[in-house]
Amino acid sequence: MKSHINKKSGLGTKSVWAGELDEFPGQASQVPVFHSVTYNYKDLDYWHNVSLGKEEGHIYSRNTNPTVEVFEEKVRALEGAEAATSFSTGMAAISNTLFTFLRPGDRVVSIKDSYGGTSSIFLNFLPPMQVEVSLCETGNHEEMEAEIDKGCKLVYLETPTNPTLKLIDIARIVKKAKEQNALVVVDNTFATPINQNPLTLGADIVLHSATKFLGGHSDAMGGVVCGAKDLVQKIFHYREITGATLHPMSAYLLARGIKTLELRIERQNENAMQLARFLQEQSQVEEVFYPGLESHKHHDVAKKQMHGFGGMLSFSLKGDFEAVKKFLPQLRYAHLAASLGAVGTLAGPPRVTSHVELTAEERAHLGIPEGLVRFSVGIENIEDIKEDILQALKNI
Ligand SMILES: *Cc1c(COP(=O)(O)O)cnc(C)c1O
Repeated sequence: MKSHINKKSGLGTKSVWAGELDEFPGQASQVPVFHSVTYNYKDLDYWHNVSLGKEEGHIYSRNTNPTVEVFEEKVRALEGAEAATSFSTGMAAISNTLFTFLRPGDRVVSIKDSYGGTSSIFLNFLPPMQVEVSLCETGNHEEMEAEIDKGCKLVYLETPTNPTLKLIDIARIVKKAKEQNALVVVDNTFATPINQNPLTLGADIVLHSATKFLGGHSDAMGGVVCGAKDLVQKIFHYREITGATLHPMSAYLLARGIKTLELRIERQNENAMQLARFLQEQSQVEEVFYPGLESHKHHDVAKKQMHGFGGMLSFSLKGDFEAVKKFLPQLRYAHLAASLGAVGTLAGPPRVTSHVELTAEERAHLGIPEGLVRFSVGIENIEDIKEDILQALKNI
């Protein structure tokens, strides 16, 4: 019997119970990792019906797998979607979604600040397939609306963005996109379904790198796409044929991580807000970028469409990259690494991570100071993080 989650269940309840069965094989209370490629049928009529999709069941694990299904069901419930399907990574979710819907002659409108891998698909992979891509200044809604007005098949958004947390008003762009019958896809990785639900703002598809906050422990990679059944079915079909399937072990780890999603995000929202205000008071800090601050240039949009402001923030140090080099290695409670969204605080300079391939001028054009530090704030006690930052700032 399936779990008793319904639309009105709270997000914490959904995180824990969505996708869980009353009883798994062997009376197991927790979802087993089904390390099985094949599924065994003695009744040929039943097998036939499962193959035709007339009865529930599994045939081959590139297509579906019971452990993977539990993960998909949790994210589906949290995003309030009709359907969800999963992928081996976030980039697989993004590329499979774009390649499912785009054909030669189509036009896409997106932003300049999307995730590096996504940007690369827009700049290097879609144009040779005769898909026209128009990338707008992130947060310039007038420019984006004008580009959508020229006609487009798909509008691709990401909000908040890396690394200065720029925001896009999802409902406003959806309104314009609907006039062109364009599909609206939103990368909700930074916000998580706890802080933002693009589907309720009118988007057609919401997707995540589950590698980040959903899993929350930096120990498994995955991606997931949610939306209406017919759209998700098309993306699922593309994925089951092209093969970027989520591994059952990763699905298990991600589903286990999701059980604490609401708790973690509440703590990370709280920690990031406190840290942002604390950093504003430090004399070595030039500017703090956090959507929860009144000083943030898209704070009004954040208040309108987000339930919480998230665990990501960035700040620039006076003294540029030389100051960053003295500051970061002194931190005791932060991994200096790529990625984000884990229980442990993680810090890095965009100059050597996400934006390493750009020139200083190009970074300046995107509003990224040379002394910028990005923080993915963890669930540690905030007093310890503050103290750690204070002692590291003294080294500058
Ligand atoms: C990390 C990330 C991705 C890519 O996800 P992978 O799991 O690394 O493939 C996509 N979008 C955003 C916003 C990300 O942070």
